[in-house]
Amino acid sequence: MKQKFVNTSRTPIYRDAGFELYDAETTKNAFSNETGNERIPDLYIYSRYRNPTVVAAEDDLMELEGSRWSLLTESGMSAVDTALSVFQEGKATKTWLFFSEIYGGTISYIESILKRRRGLEIRIFEPVDQKYNLADFKQTLESVRPGIVYVEAISNPMLIVTDLGEVIALSHKIGAKVIVDNTFATPALCKPLDLGADLVIHSATKYFSGHGNITAGVISGNDDTLMKACIEYRKFAGHMISADDAYRLNTQIKTFNLRFNKQCSNASRLAILLKQKPGVRKVWYPGLADHPTFAEAKRLFGDKLPGGMITLDFEGNTPDEKKKRRDSFIRKVSGKINIIPSLGDPRTIIMPVESVWGAKYPEPGMIRLSVGFEDYNDLEAAILNGLF
Ligand code: PLP
Repeated sequence: MKQKFVNTSRTPIYRDAGFELYDAETTKNAFSNETGNERIPDLYIYSRYRNPTVVAAEDDLMELEGSRWSLLTESGMSAVDTALSVFQEGKATKTWLFFSEIYGGTISYIESILKRRRGLEIRIFEPVDQKYNLADFKQTLESVRPGIVYVEAISNPMLIVTDLGEVIALSHKIGAKVIVDNTFATPALCKPLDLGADLVIHSATKYFSGHGNITAGVISGNDDTLMKACIEYRKFAGHMISADDAYRLNTQIKTFNLRFNKQCSNASRLAILLKQKPGVRKVWYPGLADHPTFAEAKRLFGDKLPGGMITLDFEGNTPDEKKKRRDSFIRKVSGKINIIPSLGDPRTIIMPVESVWGAKYPEPGMIRLSVGFEDYNDLEAAILNGLF
């Protein structure tokens, strides 16, 4: 059937698993050019390699990130896997250095896959009093001489902000490549590539999707050799996002700035309110002057409100008392504010910290809030109802 031009302003969902290659010569050329690994191929071959709907969504992400290239993957974890694996060089692989306060799933990936299965040498760099000490970091770099440094801009659940500019500069001085997971901060707060990071990753499941209905990841960079390596790894490991998810992400990303700004302003107001409430022992929000990394947040984010996440701890003379306060809060807010193990959703969602982190953060009164972009007055009313 002759194709008719359709005057659409969007790239449609191309669900083709394989694309038509017409004749033997075209097929040969398509396959031999494919190994050049340009982000947009002359001819599409197979959706696990490259897909036009995915490429269209990547264009928007590049604009948001200010990157030369962005590549979508099927989950945040496949973005983590791709970004790290392209630096693995068999026996020549150097030690990799990870900041300790990173996503728990990434810690499990390090333990189960990088250490146990791949046999890699891994070192962990820990904060002191909920803050990374740069002098200690410099010493660690000099003694370990890692090939990679892996860090998150804002950590989970204590919301420790890393002085990315310094960490990147110090790492580069000893020849290490730097990967930043910027899921919590997003490009609205900082763009690690502008600070010299080699790769930036996001779980697009969170703020980029923003509606809790897509699982996806993205890797961005400025170096073409790394892009080609990431395209190749994504293809061979089968980490490609589906065209359907890419299309929906491309729709939802259009409202990212609007949503994230509101999430940050709601979080900032709520953090100030919570701090004044009896029954709440402590509030962690990097915009509060008593947060251990308030200064780092100011340096990295300037006057922008530092994110949509808050962690709080309920008062109590005993662990049991704290637990009771926490459970009463969870019961009273439920319906309006639910326990959902994710973040960046439209409505505020919560996680009891001890239930997830166990021995790492054993305080039974702690709750992490991912603040949504609902009307602030509704949110405040729901929270106050939970506290009294
Ligand atoms: N990085 C961070 C900071 C995360 O919070 C998560 C998930 O919560 C991931 C990576 C993994 O993303 P996904 O669940 O989309 O695989």
